[in-house]
Amino acid sequence: MDLDRHDFELDELMERIRSNDHRLIALQVPEGLKMQALEMMDTIETETSTHVVLAADPCYGACDLVHDKMKMMGVELVAHMGHSQMNIDSGMPTQFINVTYDGDPELSPVLPWLEQHRAMAMERLNNTPSQPVDETEAQERFMDAVGRLAPLTDTKLGLVGSIQHLHLLPEFHDRLEQARFDVTIPLGGARLSFPGQVLGCNYSGDNPSIGHYLFLGSGDFHPIGLVLHTGKPLAMLDPYTGEAEEMSLQRIERILRQRFGLIMSVQEADSFGILIGEKPGQMRRTLALRMKRMLAKHGKKGYLLALEHVGPELIDFYPVDAFVNTACPRIAIDDAVKYRKPLITPFELEVALGEKQWETGYQFDEIP
Ligand code: SF4
Repeated sequence: MDLDRHDFELDELMERIRSNDHRLIALQVPEGLKMQALEMMDTIETETSTHVVLAADPCYGACDLVHDKMKMMGVELVAHMGHSQMNIDSGMPTQFINVTYDGDPELSPVLPWLEQHRAMAMERLNNTPSQPVDETEAQERFMDAVGRLAPLTDTKLGLVGSIQHLHLLPEFHDRLEQARFDVTIPLGGARLSFPGQVLGCNYSGDNPSIGHYLFLGSGDFHPIGLVLHTGKPLAMLDPYTGEAEEMSLQRIERILRQRFGLIMSVQEADSFGILIGEKPGQMRRTLALRMKRMLAKHGKKGYLLALEHVGPELIDFYPVDAFVNTACPRIAIDDAVKYRKPLITPFELEVALGEKQWETGYQFDEIP
């Protein structure tokens, strides 16, 4: 990562520290910026009269805000870098610090993908999938990356990005319109702060007028979630490298086949560990309790397990047959192979118990 081309917007933080005369603040940075954290601590301590303690535990999102335990240490303010505010209250005053990257990639490498995907969306617009006729067809539809798609009303291009590239969206909107695409920057729900923003657990800006997507960002974490959630084709343009590619539907179908296998494997399970995340933006207590009641209704046992971090070494040894995860949804999707026992999402448990039907298609576990 070229840090010289990142803008760390520290001015507001400095001003807030000075005007409140804070004496101890906590700095929380994403994993990719941890190497630079000490330099940032030096800058803040030199320019203000505060001391800075680094919240050095892993941090993967704004769901994971430093919460009240740091009050006991005397921390007055949390400076959270690289993620945007969510609809959660951590119990601590928090200053969100934007980080933006100045890369401005050429549009041309991604245009062939966008043209292909628009053609797919047009074909879909004209061919609404029929209802599956039997269980086998419903199960095949379940594993089809795009077959479950709800009817489209249009074939617009949805323009989205990860947080450090969102400032590019208005300019890219105009460039894409000049390239004769009908573009929309989707507005999501309360968990998202900006138009076009996506999180690994929230794609709430999707709507039936969007036929395909362009993602400005790097890595495949957000693209995998978006295609699993929507079943719509997605092209990716990386502002760091200027390279373009598509999220392969075969890859999504491999994930769906794996999810299908996990659902089948827990159908005979009798006891489940139900994971509840302790992080403020991952805690879904009501959902966990609903899973426990649902298991009881089917004569099965559910044990509620609360954890700050989830990992195989922390849960595999419990004498249960399988786990249902209500913490970060991506733990079950992205890390399933690391666990000895099946680790499934709440929706997948509902399908395994027959509470939801295969023919409804795969539903991504979104945190609203
Ligand atoms: S995907 Fe997981 S880590 Fe990222 S914001 Fe959502 S809950 Fe947090």
